[in-house]
Amino acid sequence: MIFQPELETKPVEERAEEQRRRLSDLIKRLKESDSSYWRDKLADVSPNDPLVELPFTTKVELLEHYPYGLLAVPLEQTVRIHASSGTRHKPTIVAYTARDIELFADVNARSICCAGATPEDVVHVAYGYGLFTGGLGLHYGVERLGATAVPASGGNSSFQVQLLADLGARGICCTPSFCYLLAERAVDEGVADRIQLRYGVLGAEPWSESLRQKIEEAWGDFDACDIYGLSEVIGPGVAMECRENKGGLHVFDDHFQPEVVDPETGEPTDGLGELVLTTLTKEALPVIRYRTGDVTQLQPGECPCGRTHTRIARFSGRVDDMLVIRGVNVFPSAIEAALLEHPGVAGQYAIVVDRRETLPRLEVHAELASDELLSKRDDVQRRLEDVLEQRLRLRVRAVVANPGGLPRQELGKAKRVFERTEETDELLQLSGG
Ligand SMILES: [Zn+2]
Repeated sequence: MIFQPELETKPVEERAEEQRRRLSDLIKRLKESDSSYWRDKLADVSPNDPLVELPFTTKVELLEHYPYGLLAVPLEQTVRIHASSGTRHKPTIVAYTARDIELFADVNARSICCAGATPEDVVHVAYGYGLFTGGLGLHYGVERLGATAVPASGGNSSFQVQLLADLGARGICCTPSFCYLLAERAVDEGVADRIQLRYGVLGAEPWSESLRQKIEEAWGDFDACDIYGLSEVIGPGVAMECRENKGGLHVFDDHFQPEVVDPETGEPTDGLGELVLTTLTKEALPVIRYRTGDVTQLQPGECPCGRTHTRIARFSGRVDDMLVIRGVNVFPSAIEAALLEHPGVAGQYAIVVDRRETLPRLEVHAELASDELLSKRDDVQRRLEDVLEQRLRLRVRAVVANPGGLPRQELGKAKRVFERTEETDELLQLSGG
């Protein structure tokens, strides 16, 4: 079911008109607010300026004005605080008015419905409750839908699978890795047969199509759907994958207007770029053109589920990982995708940025999938180079090693990008050369 069908299936032109009206109202409101941050930021902006001409907002601004500097309403009007963990710096503090909390509940109810929920369901919420937006965000969404929330929070997987079995949950909200862990734990504990989970609202960490497949197979007759959000915008419920058309997410763009821009120039792009979000209706802490740092691409076309919200592709990494080679933006995730689609090569790969000449060159190292392909190596190399040139719009040298020929990395997250200069060759060093 669709939670708010009249809003979620609104004709695209009508929504565009609504977005313009809401943006104009937002600018008027912010220019009149007591916040010096907003008055300064929008000093040269008028309420009818188009979105693309407005200034960007970055995370640095939130940190510089810690804790409350970006609030557009007096603190007395807010009813809740959340914070994102600061691994390298102070946490980012976000605040909500009562109406913001209503909105937060609405977009999470929409999200849970995208995965297949109905008001009759029991929904198990295993995101952390607390300053983190995940637990309370989904919890309010479940209640708003009229379903029954089980506020399990994180941890204690043995107890969680008992609850899943005993309480009859049909839906679960948690990270994809925890969802997979619970499926294994359910088997260990001998309760898998009694669990009736049918869908998952899974997010808060990047995850691949192959993990989706593993999760869906582990639970059986299960839709594993991706939810996206960030506390600076509201928390979970900014965008959600529908079960009818996995592979892209609907951005709830009557509230969060998306743009995809070239991270270098800030200009709109049809290709891979950085997701930028504007909160059209939030009161306490709106953001204008917030640079999320997340890499995606707009997906045009209609969705079989009937929702008319803008779709974006599943995320392919962070802008921080982007390489600039001869003026072309290259996302390592795009190289990985091209390699994994090629039947002739195995999953291991390495990207070498060769800086021995004035202009850097890109080299992609892969491995043949099997010994039978040894005689076809030149062929595989050439096809790989053609595909990569098409995808990246950049000439790339492909080097295809024997099966198992690339160095393996034992610890932590595999390093994929290596530098080569006159002095050092990082990949060669890893191979022990
Ligand atoms: Zn859809």
